Amino acid sequence: MTFQKSHELYTKGLEHLVGAVNSPVRAFASVGGNPLFIKKAKGTKIYDVDDNAYIDLVLSYGPMILGHRHKKVQKAITKALKNGYSFGASTKNEIKLAKIVCDAFPGMDKVRFVNSGTEAVLSGIRLARAFTGKDKIIKFSGCYHGHQDALLVAAGSGLATLSLPGSKGVPEGAVKNTLIANYNDLDSVKAHFEAHNDIAGVILEPIAGNMGVVIPENNFLIDLKEYLTSKGALLIADEVMTGFRSTFGGAQELLGVEADITCLGKVIGGGFPVGAYGARNEIMEMVAPLGGMYQAGTLSGNPIAMAGGIATLTELKKQNPYEKFNEVAQTIESLLLEAAKKYNVDLTVSRFGSMMNPFFTDKNVTNFQEAQSSDTKKFAVFFWEMIRNGVFLPPSQFEAWFLSSAISTKDIKKIAKAIDKSMRVVSEM
Ligand SMILES: *Cc1c(COP(=O)(O)O)cnc(C)c1O
Repeated sequence: MTFQKSHELYTKGLEHLVGAVNSPVRAFASVGGNPLFIKKAKGTKIYDVDDNAYIDLVLSYGPMILGHRHKKVQKAITKALKNGYSFGASTKNEIKLAKIVCDAFPGMDKVRFVNSGTEAVLSGIRLARAFTGKDKIIKFSGCYHGHQDALLVAAGSGLATLSLPGSKGVPEGAVKNTLIANYNDLDSVKAHFEAHNDIAGVILEPIAGNMGVVIPENNFLIDLKEYLTSKGALLIADEVMTGFRSTFGGAQELLGVEADITCLGKVIGGGFPVGAYGARNEIMEMVAPLGGMYQAGTLSGNPIAMAGGIATLTELKKQNPYEKFNEVAQTIESLLLEAAKKYNVDLTVSRFGSMMNPFFTDKNVTNFQEAQSSDTKKFAVFFWEMIRNGVFLPPSQFEAWFLSSAISTKDIKKIAKAIDKSMRVVSEM
């Protein structure tokens, strides 16, 4: 296996692109080596410019839930392309996608489409503030909500009360209304409410996927929602990753909670740039043109993206692959744990539906701090061995692996072999 052409493109890319990438995780910084350049993908497979084929467990970080280039999606966008690319005016398909989304989320009467998950969340936060007339937002350490200033706060900071900017260029003022709590720790939320009386709401990933997969314990979400309601504060569910991935609809439904505001992205665009935020009528009526909260977008509701989203969700509903996802994830979990045992490597596997990942630690992972106990050097070795054995993983210990409904028994066999070989190499470090 050679990566010659990828290396050449990487070197070329460095001249006019920052780190040769347009999103930092793609740079392979935490696993070492140069990033791969991709030529094409189809079904469960992705191909790099050196013509190496991989089973893709990145799936564009979630959107490609049907696998790449599903024929119905391709047909729908090809048809849409013939009518034009963008109009700056409403189209019928926006109504159609809005209905599919609202029907799938019990707490959502109305939705507004935007162009990315980041945009969905920043709008959702603005909406929570507009509706409650309060400024402070609580987020959980280790949860990622896109790159807006207010939420780029030191993820993993043990200093729950101190909000330090997690990125250069984010002014203190932009994060002074952001409070940090610990995932699966309701007391850390209550402490903030005891110290402040101007909290608009709490934002969280109902299944965390951006510190690796971390699952809410027992009644954490239900108790959190009940507590927030008693305080007149809103629950903002960032389902950009979990929406239509955990089930048809949101993780909220599976977990028995209904958020006040829900943010979506990834799967709802089927690979095109789409985000959305929605809520019950009373809240959404705050948004312009009905209300005084301004939020706009030149390309929002883009006709090609709407066609891709409708085709993806329609096919997804028809396939209803969620039980299959559970079974496949369970199989891969067993393969990982068996290999870890065989080669004596400390490993914990975390999974929910079609999101999963191993942590190279002997700890149970229920929050960011525990996730950080993982041995990232072991992950880096594992990652490159999986690549050499034809499986494309996210290049970070703290990113979820994703499954698509296109995954086959043959793919799983290939993954099984790769896991066994890679774990052996990890044990020889
Ligand atoms: C990916 C992600 C975002 C950001 O979405 P972008 O489309 O990358 O801007 C926000 N929240 C969560 C939970 C995500 O997984």
